[in-house]
Parts: sequence; C-alpha cells; structure tokens
Amino acid sequence: MVGSALLRRLSKGGYQNIVLKTRQELDLLDQPAVNKFFQTEQPDYVFIAAAKVGGINANNTYPAEFIYQNLVIETNIIQAAFKSGVQDLMFLGSSCIYPRDCHQPISEDYLLTGSLEPTNEAYAIAKIAGVKLCESYHRQYQVRYTSVIPANLYGPNDNFNIDSGHVIASLIRKMHLAKLAQDKTVTCWGSGKPLRDFISVDDAADACVFIMENLREGFEEGDHRNNLTNIGTGTAISILELAETIKTVVGYHGGVQWDTSKPDGMPCKSLDCHRLNALGWVPKTSLKEGLTQTYEWFLQQC
Ligand code: GDP
Repeated sequence: MVGSALLRRLSKGGYQNIVLKTRQELDLLDQPAVNKFFQTEQPDYVFIAAAKVGGINANNTYPAEFIYQNLVIETNIIQAAFKSGVQDLMFLGSSCIYPRDCHQPISEDYLLTGSLEPTNEAYAIAKIAGVKLCESYHRQYQVRYTSVIPANLYGPNDNFNIDSGHVIASLIRKMHLAKLAQDKTVTCWGSGKPLRDFISVDDAADACVFIMENLREGFEEGDHRNNLTNIGTGTAISILELAETIKTVVGYHGGVQWDTSKPDGMPCKSLDCHRLNALGWVPKTSLKEGLTQTYEWFLQQC
C-alpha cells in the first residue's frame, strides 16, 4: 500500500530512475539476496516501506511472525544499504511504537517513555528496533538515515481482509457486503471509544518524499530531531464516529453492533505533528474525501 503510493508520488514529481522489485523477484528476508540487490543497483535514496503489517487481530494472533519478519527485513535492508554506500534512507515506523498510555497528542520525544500496548507489542518492538538502527547508523557513521511515524494509514491497495485488515479497510468491506445483503446490522470490534488519527496513504507518501527532499539540509543543521518525524493530520476521531462516516460513504443504512469481546487496542493515538508542520508540510485530503476515494478504488477491484 505505501510502496505503491510512494511510486505514484515519485512518478508525479518527475522522478524517473526508480528501482523496484516485486516480492517474487527479491525476498527481503534473504540477506545474501538483499546484499546482491544493493551491490548491483547502488541506489542513492532508499524508502523502507516493506513490512509485515496487519490490523489489531493479526498483530495479536501472530506476534512471532510480526516481530521476526520485521526485524529481519529492516536489518537486512539497512545493513545492505550501508555497505553499498547509501547516504539517504527513510524507515517507516508505526504510531504503535509509542507508549500505550501516552500523553496526547503524542510527540516524537515520548518514544521509550512507557510500556507498549500488548496487542501490538511484538510489532512495535521490531519497529522501535528499526528506528534505533537508523539513529545508530547516523550517530556512528553520519549517514542520513531517518525514521517517520505515520498515523493510521488507509487508501488504495490496503488489505481489505475482514480478519487481518486494519479498521477502515475491514469496515468498508463489511459495510459494502451488508449493503448488498441488506443485513440489519454490521458487527464492529471493541467499544468504539478508541481514538485514532487517520491519514490517507497518498498524503503520507507526499510527506515522506517532502521529508526526503529536505533531509540533507535538516541533518546539516545537526539537529537530532531529524531522526524521527510524525506524519499525521493532527486530528483524532473515535472508531464509533469513523464507523458512522464509513456507513455514509458506503451508503449502508443498517445499524452497528459493538463486539466488546474484541480488543480496543491503544485508547488513543493522536500524533503531534508540529515538527513536520514546521518544515512546511500539511495534509491535503479530508477523511471524508479519502474514504470516498478508497471506496471507489475498492469498488473497481470487486
Ligand atoms: P490499531 O490502530 O493498531 O488498533 O489497528 P486497527 O486499525 O486494526 O484497529 C483500530 C480500532 O478499530 C481498534 O479499537 C479496533 O478494535 C477497532 N475496530 C472496530 N471494528 C474493527 C474491524 O472490523 N477491524 C479492525 N481491524 N478493527 C476494528
């Protein structure tokens, strides 16, 4: 999802020499293959969007896969990139790396100040390791390896699987199917009370490219804050409100039932985006617009 959004954004920005490999062509879990790729291609700029990702249920059910695969993917890429001479690299983290009961909105400085949310602890530990890899390579070798922390992402190429997807993709699919079947209710997970900051993947990709374009200047100023940047809208809404908005976008007129046997996850993930805003970047897509575009994309795939 993020990789294809980055490709759309880079192509639109006139970048032509973009090196791409499918999962079949390059297995990022295979260190010799990753080394060979970097030695052959010698890229100048690297975006690490590849990861093992999933919604609350997938994270909670498969913690071993989430911690193992993410640790290996990021370690393989960062080490191979460094050995091949890459100076500019961006690692994409996740807002679940911040402590569960964090002061809100969450500033970059709150990393490692408290315990993590148990449903995504394994994934978060792997992503924290990725952030620290970038920070350490920068500290020891002065390479410009930085991390960005996107808020909850949604958009084209999301995983619309009801069991393993994130909330927006899962609810779009559930409500679409309920509309077709004329079901009276749709079941959503948890209490509906958690708050999330949702950013469209195209806005997030735009922010990633913007940060990369300004990376050299930022690091030259010697400011340690260039190591970590939140990417969000600065506004969080409840899952309940989200469900109502998706109902409107999809045109489903039934009711919503809340299955409180399912976990809520973090009570609130609202990102403080002052650091990014101060660089001169703000998001362009409202949640309603983004959801409408995502539903249109979903319908084209049906
Ligand atoms: P999280 O931000 O890591 O918790 O990831 P999710 O996007 O999977 O879940 C966000 C919130 O939406 C959680 O509080 C879930 O319990 C809630 N939620 C409600 N219905 C659903 C659903 O159908 N799928 C998912 N994934 N989450 C849901």
